[in-house]
Amino acid sequence: MTDTTRSSVPRKILVGGKWIESRSARFESVTDPTTNEVIGRVPLCSKSETDAAIEAAAKAFEIWRDVPAPRRAAILFKYQNILLREQNNLAHLVSQEHGKVLSDAAGSVRRGIDMVEFATGVPSLMQGRTLEDVSSQMDCHSWRQPLGVCAAICPFNFPVMVPMWFAPIAIACGNAFVLKPSEKTPLTSLRMAELFEEAGLPPGVLNVVTGDKEAVDALIENPTVKSLSFVGSTPVARYIYENGSKHGKRVQALAGAKNHLVAMPDANIQETVAALISSAFGSAGERCMAISVCVTVGDVAEPLLKRLVEETRKLRVGPGTDPASEMGPLVTREHMARVLRYIDIGAREGASLLADGRGYKVQGYPEGNWVGPTIFDNVNPSMTIYKEEIFGPVLCVVRVNTFDEALNLINANPFGNGTAIFTSDGMTARTFRKKVQVGMIGVNVAIPVPLAFFPFTGWKDSFFGTLHAHGQDGVLFFTEQKIVTSRWFDEKSDAKKRMSI
Ligand code: NAD
Repeated sequence: MTDTTRSSVPRKILVGGKWIESRSARFESVTDPTTNEVIGRVPLCSKSETDAAIEAAAKAFEIWRDVPAPRRAAILFKYQNILLREQNNLAHLVSQEHGKVLSDAAGSVRRGIDMVEFATGVPSLMQGRTLEDVSSQMDCHSWRQPLGVCAAICPFNFPVMVPMWFAPIAIACGNAFVLKPSEKTPLTSLRMAELFEEAGLPPGVLNVVTGDKEAVDALIENPTVKSLSFVGSTPVARYIYENGSKHGKRVQALAGAKNHLVAMPDANIQETVAALISSAFGSAGERCMAISVCVTVGDVAEPLLKRLVEETRKLRVGPGTDPASEMGPLVTREHMARVLRYIDIGAREGASLLADGRGYKVQGYPEGNWVGPTIFDNVNPSMTIYKEEIFGPVLCVVRVNTFDEALNLINANPFGNGTAIFTSDGMTARTFRKKVQVGMIGVNVAIPVPLAFFPFTGWKDSFFGTLHAHGQDGVLFFTEQKIVTSRWFDEKSDAKKRMSI
């Protein structure tokens, strides 16, 4: 038997209930972002291996679809309990392969478990509707049925939470599933699949293939796959949405972001600064709901920025797995280099650096992917650092004079994932909530991520599709609707008695 606990031994993939060695000639090393030591290797699966996983899922679907909904829910209840037992270990693994600090990792695992809890409600969530006597002696019922084989392609930044946005709901609804985690952070997803097996999920209902574009293209092209759920950058989301739709699939593609926080002159400075620090620099800015632009309105700028810079300097940057750290390293060397390039560009474009994260050192970890918290003031909307998603601990400050200017700035931005307003005026908050063209809005809340029972509603270039992830949208996405109109003839009834209206 192969010892898969050693980091040099490639991880197995899960196909049809069996953990098998991939025959791929291509592999990816997973590194600890704090040290850049290799902590695992995964195969980049070929088209034929991905097709085999799809075939195994199709076979399992034929049995799983007929398992009564309460029995499917019972497996999810068991899975939820196992995840609660394992949550600290999962958080540790997330922190190790991604770099985010333990408290952030634990929060994301908790959010993932919430999705499983939501999915246990499937006997209620999947119910159809009925109307008796839609016409003479006719009744009408709607039914929701599973789609078949569903697949998800996930990003690196939430190795537990994002796969959980999809797999538990799809499986609870009676579908079989193929998960393709990010090749940068696949280890936690593989562990989650092991735990699903422990909960009693039948073989083939969940399959996991590690890989890159080749595996993704196989999922897009294989006609057995009925739906694609994607989370990642906007260019890839657009590619998945366009090509998945072309291949006749139902697609939901959650994409990149540039999220603005508007600080009004009547905002509580202390609360706004605390919110900016956690939302811009938490998870080292590697969050699609991170605030990456602070829009200061009028004279709030001076007191806010003074305090923001003071508090930013106090942030403890260090290994994610050290409980004392408040911000960890970036996921890979390449990503660190990309973020540093953006800081160089911003400085060249003439934005004022209030905090410069370049050349950041953490004692004892010379090989870590460190970028310190960075703040650019006087950012102009025509600058590259404003226009593009940086996905690192870099906050741009745009100063405007009025609320309307702030609103117009946000509405002109092509992204529409999240936004927030900090104010003590209810009417300003209400106008903002009503007029802003963004899907998830916080009022004095910097990261307004909806809980499991609401959908995750990005807009514009932050989402391609119709039905969003989780909440009732998730149930609708993973089921097909059928309307049955039935009529039974009553031989004894007197036709004359029938009303002719
Ligand atoms: P990414 O787009 O590079 O990769 C996402 C997935 O797509 C991975 O599984 C990867 O293997 C695959 N992929 C990459 N290039 C591909 C290609 N050319 N063809 C087919 N598949 C390809 O994203 P990432 O760097 O892993 O994650 C960061 C991005 O995800 C950011 O843009 C962030 O905003 C976004 N994100 C969005 C949300 C949301 O809910 N809107 C949530 C989390 C992350």
